[in-house]
Amino acid sequence: MPRAPFRRKSGAREANQLVRLAEGLASSKSRAEDVYWERELQSAVTQHLENNDEEAINRALDKAHDAPDATFDALADMVESLTESIVLDSETGPQRVTLFCAPILVWGRSKIPTRTIPKQQLQDIAVQLSAHVFSSKVKIALVDYLFAPDQLPHSYSASRELLQLLAESIRERKHLTMPPESLEEAPDVVCDMRMIVGAFQVTEGEPFYAWQEMTTPVEEARQTCLGVWRTQGGNAIKPLLVGFPHDLTLPRSFFAACRDADLASRAYSIGASVSFLEAVTGTTPDKIVATIGGCWGNGLEEYRIGFTLGDSEEVVHGCVWPLVSDEGDDTPVVDEIESLLRAANVGTIVHLEEQLPLEFCDDCGAPHFPNREGEMLHAHLPEEANTGSMHLH
Ligand SMILES: [Zn+2]
Repeated sequence: MPRAPFRRKSGAREANQLVRLAEGLASSKSRAEDVYWERELQSAVTQHLENNDEEAINRALDKAHDAPDATFDALADMVESLTESIVLDSETGPQRVTLFCAPILVWGRSKIPTRTIPKQQLQDIAVQLSAHVFSSKVKIALVDYLFAPDQLPHSYSASRELLQLLAESIRERKHLTMPPESLEEAPDVVCDMRMIVGAFQVTEGEPFYAWQEMTTPVEEARQTCLGVWRTQGGNAIKPLLVGFPHDLTLPRSFFAACRDADLASRAYSIGASVSFLEAVTGTTPDKIVATIGGCWGNGLEEYRIGFTLGDSEEVVHGCVWPLVSDEGDDTPVVDEIESLLRAANVGTIVHLEEQLPLEFCDDCGAPHFPNREGEMLHAHLPEEANTGSMHLH
């Protein structure tokens, strides 16, 4: 929604106030004090969201990085939870409606589809979600589209708008139709994610996930739900991704599900890259060389894994392992990457000790990947590679 032209530009004062409240919450030492700060912060953030005033929120999030520890998390948690979950009045008492996402990790030799989900399949997916992921108290509505991450709402207010549309769909007992022409084109990459998005509604205070209604320890219950969702939900999703190997992660509230899937996709993309190379070049994994290098901008920002074949130093493919929050050069990330490469039967694994530059291609923006000499190169599949419509230049 465009911002009204007469709206006063958000000043530093609003942002400072949000940071002050978040810092209060983060540094409180009792539940009683928490309650006070939480209420104040909630009311301030809600006001900005309802006024569609992202600028104050984004400014505050920027500033919160420089504030004492945990201030940023307190503010981000509040902004995310008020974006993805709202409480609506109804005759049967207050109803909590929450945006959720069911992520799918996927790779392919040709362009991974984004598409409208046919009615019957959408209904099948909704039935499986209701049976295995959500509690018996929940009503859900889905968007009839298989999204790429780039097609999801880009702002807090756009996410909240989608939630409000889905709340209306739940009220009308239907699913939400998404016109595909309103979405941007998804990038054509080997390994990506697809998402099924929806909202669930529950009377405030009732359990909403299936694991909340189980009596086993919570983590065990959650894993049980994920296992059944992978099988039953997997069967309902399979027809949407014929020919594309995929793996389901746990559906849950929107931001948490997206974050969990981002993390899971780092490991998934390593095995997927090896399978992809095997499929398109006909090379067995023992002839694949994987070079792991840390790329430095303001500190260590990510690891990049460059793949070469046999004795060649030409990089044929690569994958990026972005670091999150407290990971740095002293965390055992490289060990994890190495063990994933070993599990994929990669023949040679090289770990470069030097600091590599965060280089990208000037033409297409693709990241460059290291070969075992430590040169940062554009990945090019061999000419004879058997790909579908992969983007090459
Ligand atoms: Zn390029």
